This record gives sequence, structure tokens and C-alpha cells, in this order.
Amino acid sequence: MRKPVIFGNWKMNKTNAEAKAFFEGVKGKLHDGADFGIGAPFTSLWTAVEHADCIVAAQNVHFEASGAYTGEISIEMLQELKVNWVILGHSERRAYYNETDETVNKKVKAVLAAGMTPIVCVGETLEQFEAGETKAVVQNSVAKSLEGVSAKEMASLVIAYEPVWAIGTGKNATKEIAQATCKLVREQVEAMVGAEAAQKVRIQYGGSVKPDNIAQYLAEPDIDGALIGGASLKAESFIEIANAIK
Ligand code: PGA
Repeated sequence: MRKPVIFGNWKMNKTNAEAKAFFEGVKGKLHDGADFGIGAPFTSLWTAVEHADCIVAAQNVHFEASGAYTGEISIEMLQELKVNWVILGHSERRAYYNETDETVNKKVKAVLAAGMTPIVCVGETLEQFEAGETKAVVQNSVAKSLEGVSAKEMASLVIAYEPVWAIGTGKNATKEIAQATCKLVREQVEAMVGAEAAQKVRIQYGGSVKPDNIAQYLAEPDIDGALIGGASLKAESFIEIANAIK
């Protein structure tokens, strides 16, 4: 049985003061039925760790240990803050900051080598969806982003299937589409590292997940959680999401 994994992704939102207020609002209101977490911006990670009673994740990290990479953050810097989870390869990073399957793969390997947990995002654009390319795009992205990852490591990580056309648009994928693609992701993992790890890896759906639609996704056999943007920004809404899957 895979434990549900529900993460908020705050993107470029929330100052330290706002982060503190959120975690104070959420404190004691989540439950043990799922692993809950928040992907906070770098500047509020420390505040998040101090005040959260859920997992705290970064939204990116560099694959090199240190060096001349102005504006970047290393794994060691995250570990010093006791941040052990990282969202990698979000479609916004792929679209706006030249993130590719190759750089995601380097980051995944570095994060795993450090004993941390990545949430690896994949998903097709609207154009690819309409052209019927979802299967090929998602399979290819999973294969390349997770290339060289061992079965044991694969079993420990999280993959987020997020169709780009559903992110921030209010047009969430139907549960049938989300299930079919998450199943495909699991089959790709099985082809790469075998059935045992494929049964253990947790796969999230992301894209306009809200308190009133989350339960239908979690009821699907291959969807083990959600990555949530907009609806994770308010404490009340995040609590409602948690309550919807109690
Ligand atoms: P959304 O974002 O829930 O606002 O659609 C999801 C995401 O980008 O992870």
C-alpha cells in the first residue's frame, strides 16, 4: 500500500512573514493518512522548517556541490536547513529557465546521492496533448529524467505527472486522463527498473487540484497524491484538501 503524498508548491509566493502565518494556521490540522509537504521559496525555507509540522521542500537545487554559479543554491545549503525534499523539473522551470530532462537527471542523481527525496515533474504541453503525443512525451521524459537511477532509489522517490495545460488554468485533467498517464508513468518505471520498484514509486497528479476535486484522483489505482499550486497558498484551503482525503 502506497501512502498518499500531498505537496503544495508555492512557486514565487510568500515572504517569511506570510510563510510563518501559513504554518501557524495549518499546525495540528493535518493528519497521518498522507505525507504532507510544502515547496517553499528558498528565502522562506528556514522559517518553514522552524514552523511547519509537515515536510518542507525546495523548488530547485543545483547539481554541482559548489562553485561559480551565481544565483544558485547547493544541496549542502538545503541540508544545513534540514530541507531534505526538492521539487525538480517543474514545467515552469522547463519553460522559462531552460531546464531539460538532462539537467533534471543530473539534479535527481545528486539529490539521491545526498540521501534526499526528489519530486520529479513531467508533463505534456497543450500542443502535445492535442497532437496525441502525451504517451511519447511522458515516457521519454520519465526515461531521460530518471536515467541511471537504481531500483532502490526509484522506489523512494516521487514522480509528479502535471499536464502543462492543467497548471494554473482551472482546467484540471479528468480522473481518467490523469489515471491513464500515471499508469503509463508506472509502466515506464517498470520497464526501467522492474516491477517491485514500480509498485513502490509514488506518482502524483498535478494541475488545478482543489479541495473539491482531489478525492477523485486519489481513488484511482495509480495516483498516489497531488502536487498543488494555487490551492496550497491559503492555510484553510490546504486544510480542506487534507480533510477531503481523510
Ligand atoms: P496549480 O499548479 O495547482 O495552480 O494548477 C500546480 C503546479 O504547478 O504544481
